[in-house]
Amino acid sequence: MKYSILVEVYAELEKHSGKIKKAEVVSELLKETPAADLEQVVLLLGGRVFPVWSDKEVGVAIQLMIRAVSRAAGISPEEVQKQFNKSGDLGLTAEELSREKKQRSFGKKELTVEHIFEGLRKLAEVSGAGSQERKLDFIAELLISAKPLEARYIVRTVLEQLRVGVAEGIVRDAIAKAYSVSPEDVENAWFLNQDYGEIARIAKEEGTEGLKKVRIKIGNPVFVLLAEKAPTLKEAIESFEKVGIEQKIDGARLQVHRKGNQFWVYTRRLENVTKQFPDIIEYCKKGIRAENYIVEGECVAVDKKTERPLPFQALSQRIKRKYDIEKTLKEIPAKLNLFDVVFLDGESLFEKTLEERRALLEKIVFPQKGKIELLEQLRTKNLKEADQFYRKALNESQEGVMVKNLEALYQPGRRVAGGWLKVKPTLENLDLVIVGGTWGTGKRAGWIGSLLLGCRDPDTGKFLDCGMMGTGVKEKETEGSVTFEQLTKLLKPLILSEKESEVKFKPKIVIEVAYEEIQKSPTYESGFGLRFPRFLRIRTDKAPEEADSLERLKTIYGQQKGKK
Ligand code: AMP
Repeated sequence: MKYSILVEVYAELEKHSGKIKKAEVVSELLKETPAADLEQVVLLLGGRVFPVWSDKEVGVAIQLMIRAVSRAAGISPEEVQKQFNKSGDLGLTAEELSREKKQRSFGKKELTVEHIFEGLRKLAEVSGAGSQERKLDFIAELLISAKPLEARYIVRTVLEQLRVGVAEGIVRDAIAKAYSVSPEDVENAWFLNQDYGEIARIAKEEGTEGLKKVRIKIGNPVFVLLAEKAPTLKEAIESFEKVGIEQKIDGARLQVHRKGNQFWVYTRRLENVTKQFPDIIEYCKKGIRAENYIVEGECVAVDKKTERPLPFQALSQRIKRKYDIEKTLKEIPAKLNLFDVVFLDGESLFEKTLEERRALLEKIVFPQKGKIELLEQLRTKNLKEADQFYRKALNESQEGVMVKNLEALYQPGRRVAGGWLKVKPTLENLDLVIVGGTWGTGKRAGWIGSLLLGCRDPDTGKFLDCGMMGTGVKEKETEGSVTFEQLTKLLKPLILSEKESEVKFKPKIVIEVAYEEIQKSPTYESGFGLRFPRFLRIRTDKAPEEADSLERLKTIYGQQKGKK
């Protein structure tokens, strides 16, 4: 398929902000797209060449892109930077420059979706000496062949800043519309197989029947069931007929898959961390008596000496570690607290109640203390007993408790009403994305000294700012803390633009933030501002798409008003 067709659609999508219209535009494109191109087109519509859960990335920073644009346009990088400072969008700058140049040149070759897609995928593989130059050559080459409008979107796609507002919900609705199937069937299939390209192909070629046949496959990550928040323990236990209460442990949720002698381990963001957890696999081999399963649990790092659980930060080092894994295993031992089983002996258990799943889990797990354990579950509707359990959890430095409906089925990927309720003390923290910041002065010179926080707008997939934060990040390193220096290091490669001391970042890093109050504020795009926001930790286990939404801010705002 010609890239110019996709580009026309991008431009059309930018003109509309409504979800329904966007889905309509995308569905028209899908109808025209040959089955063989669907995977590529669907991913590119979302501005990606790898699925969300993939750990691969194109890896081109803004400075390299400026050089590529400069080479394609035949002007100096400084001149490109100048024009970019004016437009604030390097895609638009590349388009303008290409327009000026096009009047002087002829005989361009036609770009195809496949060429762009495969080319960008290959860029992710380029590494080692001279890799930057090779990347530069390839992108400049693309830009020279591109028509002006194509240049706009090539630049944005490479920088992972497509900005045409096609969130997953829109792709779902567009697939449904294009092939006359229901959005629920599309979404359910997608929860089991996170490849909208393939789902689109199945919908096109096999319709509803095909979608219903999509099953989880051991080895492919599964979207997990998510929890809702409950304001109080009392309300939580009164929500369900039958409840099971568990500690809410501060670790990382892992799903472990086993098929014969093969194992896979995924995080809740569906990252493949099999290599990082050979110890957990070993424990599962010994502690779970079945050969074919997917189980879920919360993994925590434990202190070598005291054997007490360590804060999440310690485990996150294990997750990030790609080399010297054997050494890290010894330094930071981990244990798995199992709480669910979703697949056993060839059968998906999504249709079984938690009570039934728990009974199966208890049958197959043979706990080994400090290595693999069954998370204790208290079954009670008695508030006093529940309260004691909750206090014990807090005394043991856990986050709170999970109150689970024993009669609920497992609904992957959803925060379902009537499933799990988490109960934590105080005004609940928010998980927000760092979208900008300012360079610090004085003691904080050279560091990003304050951070601009953004909440998610599910309609557009954009992040709307909702507060500036400088508290909670440390100037000097102390145990378990995060310093400005560390944050600056993480943020530097994500810089999108700079204007004097103000910086904009790619929305990649999710952090947990405590605050005193949410106020209405015209200063911020979201219309809300956090009062006294305070940094708690980096949520490496959460993708930006999982950050708290504008809706969440509105709800909390409403709740606190009611309390005054
Ligand atoms: P949150 O990240 O605040 O939405 O809370 C949900 C997360 O809590 C899950 O994804 C798990 O990682 C974690 N968790 C801790 N303890 C439990 C538990 N007993 N049952 C389920 N999830 C738990």
